[in-house]
Amino acid sequence: MGIVFIKECGLATGEVENIFAEILDRARTLDPVNMRKWFDNLHVVHLTGGALEIGCPDEACAQFLQNSCRSAFTRAAQQITGHLVTVQFSANGRAHRSAKGQRHEAGPMLHPDYTFDNFVVGPSNRFAHASCIAVSQSPGNTYNPLFVYGNSGLGKTHLLHAVCHEIKSKSASAVIQLLSCEAFVNCFIQAIEQGDLPGFQSRFRSVDTLIIDDIQFLRGREHSQEEFFHTFNALYSNGRQIILSADCAPSEIPSLEERLISRFNWGLVARIDPPSYETRMAIVQKKAHLRGFAVSDEIAGYIARKLHANIRELEGALTTIYAVSMTTGREVTLEMAQTALNGQIEASVRHIRISDITDVVARHFNIRLADLQSKKRSQSIAEPRQICMYLARQLTKHSLEEIGGHLGGRDHTTVMHACGKIEDLQKANPKMHATLELLTSQITQSGYSSAS
Ligand code: ADP
Ligand code: MG
Repeated sequence: MGIVFIKECGLATGEVENIFAEILDRARTLDPVNMRKWFDNLHVVHLTGGALEIGCPDEACAQFLQNSCRSAFTRAAQQITGHLVTVQFSANGRAHRSAKGQRHEAGPMLHPDYTFDNFVVGPSNRFAHASCIAVSQSPGNTYNPLFVYGNSGLGKTHLLHAVCHEIKSKSASAVIQLLSCEAFVNCFIQAIEQGDLPGFQSRFRSVDTLIIDDIQFLRGREHSQEEFFHTFNALYSNGRQIILSADCAPSEIPSLEERLISRFNWGLVARIDPPSYETRMAIVQKKAHLRGFAVSDEIAGYIARKLHANIRELEGALTTIYAVSMTTGREVTLEMAQTALNGQIEASVRHIRISDITDVVARHFNIRLADLQSKKRSQSIAEPRQICMYLARQLTKHSLEEIGGHLGGRDHTTVMHACGKIEDLQKANPKMHATLELLTSQITQSGYSSAS
């Protein structure tokens, strides 16, 4: 914990340590959700009158702190010292500024939590986990490509980052590109706009490992698919590793060229299923441990029993309990956890039917229920119908076939296409985002749904 103390402060090393311990404590109470146990290993690089530089174990940690915790640390430092203090995080002598300013040449932005050590293995993800470990031990030589798929929130991004951490820890010089498919597509578009396709191609075709998250984003994007096809071929023929993730199997990605589907199936395709109760409970324990929280089996079991669809929800429940505890000073008991999670769990377990969704959507767009279920394709009906499909996918456990069946006897690819389209619209269009929020809140409110 070496402290390099800057004399201008007039403080002794021990005093700096004490002040920093207080700042850390205060930051923990200001933002318990983002605090981690490994923050105990942070140290002060310097503390001058107006600037505090905090040294971190590695680049990923510094990036995480800079992006997620800077505000809490700044407020904590100002409260403890009584001065305006700016806070900066650094690793290996390099200060980090902001996520947006990061150049890809500096390496992908990795989440420090997303390592193999922090990944709980159970029957639902054992195969995907083992495949990722195998690939990270010997990139390019085992399964190529590796294609990991599963519903949202089941750990795909976590595993991809873990592979990246592992490869980097074995070979610091390995050139890895890890990015979302959306970022890949954006880079491609930018390269075309700037007339720098060769730059784009050399960036992605010269790597040792290319990891693209959420590859289903390629759906319907013909030019990007074409470019990705050539990128894939160039890497593959040179024995470079390719790892992809998606929310469904290659053949289920709508509007994806056949030649890409076939390539995605060349290597190994690994599915992740929703975790069992035991795995969920172990994940809650693991997440609590990472944050330095103690969680009893009783409380971990309670959270794991109540929430099952998505691991993000488990994590959210845990952090809610501790945020309530930290801000109110109340001890974490089962009763307190139950009260703290009341709304969250109710919303999650409430049984929502497709008819609840169609009712709300029909009323909102002022159209008839029968129209939603008809074959009509006019925009004023087709879009609300696609919204119904998207919301049914988000809020119910019905299969694509069931959703399609309920909405005019459409097949599963039509439903997938609709979900993808609405998802894209929601990202690009704040109005659509607001509409979906409003509809979701109306659907999940009591009156439209019955408790299961
Ligand atoms: P996806 O990319 O599949 O939507 P993420 O990788 O973003 O899901 O995972 C969502 C959250 O759940 C992350 O915080 C991740 O760390 C956590 N998570 C998922 N699976 C596991 C697991 N098996 N062990 C520990 N944490 C997990
Ligand atoms: Mg993801």
